[in-house]
Amino acid sequence: MMLRVDDLKVKIDHVTIIEDISLNIRPGETLALLGPNGAGKSTLIKAMAGVLSADQGEVHFNNGTDDDFMSAPRNQIAYLPQEGMARTGLTVLESVLLGRHDKLGLRVNDADLIAAHKALEQFGVAELADRRLDSLSGGQRQLSGLGQVLFREPKIMLLDEPTSALDLYRQMLVLDNLRALAKEKNMAVVCVLHDLSLAARFAERVLFMKDGRLIADDSCHSGMNADMLSEIYNIEAEILIGREGHLHVAPIRPIDTHGSGGYGHE
Ligand code: ADP
Ligand code: MG
Repeated sequence: MMLRVDDLKVKIDHVTIIEDISLNIRPGETLALLGPNGAGKSTLIKAMAGVLSADQGEVHFNNGTDDDFMSAPRNQIAYLPQEGMARTGLTVLESVLLGRHDKLGLRVNDADLIAAHKALEQFGVAELADRRLDSLSGGQRQLSGLGQVLFREPKIMLLDEPTSALDLYRQMLVLDNLRALAKEKNMAVVCVLHDLSLAARFAERVLFMKDGRLIADDSCHSGMNADMLSEIYNIEAEILIGREGHLHVAPIRPIDTHGSGGYGHE
């Protein structure tokens, strides 16, 4: 086990945003964090990444090899925010290198440069290395952000909607790559996703959130079912099994909830 969340509650301005959240994340696991707009997915990801502090409960982390949950350095968790990397005048390469500034010191050596290029290559954007971030398309910036996260060589990646700006080809490329990297590096990868078929293709485990609570934490094959999707998303959906054995979620229609299917729980 690498990350343990115990009875977590986060409030913002005295309003409870998420509560009663407990979960464990193990090395090499791929998880999809799912749920409607306003469910609390980003808040949970931020609390796990340590960029938001909990009002109750704890997030414990270890490096997956020892039992000491408190001592492991936080820099082994890499977080990619929903809004991605800031549109600055830095080049893609500079911003990737900055992602590891704690290890780099004042000098960048050839090995670091090669690793940074490799990380960008992994997401198909090595040729953008010298472009300024503020000159890129949204998708190009998102892929560069993934390169930055990979370059940090984390034990856990927490990625908030990492494919939201990508075409279908690149959504698959990114999620397939992340899944392979998780296995190869024994790294846990948590992705917030909205495309349920892509989530099923990527994730071994699905976490469903609604109204600030974790409603289900299950294997993808048993958790991704029509009853769950109707409860979580208010949709009627059909689950199909494709040629390759992947689950596909075909949305049929929204379920009328008499106007109560709002935008979260505020
Ligand atoms: P999700 O990522 O699942 O769409 P979020 O975690 O971003 O949901 O937000 C969950 C709820 O918390 C929403 O109702 C949102 O409006 C509210 N919220 C998030 N951040 C803030 C904030 N900084 N101030 C006030 N409310 C917030
Ligand atoms: Mg969000």
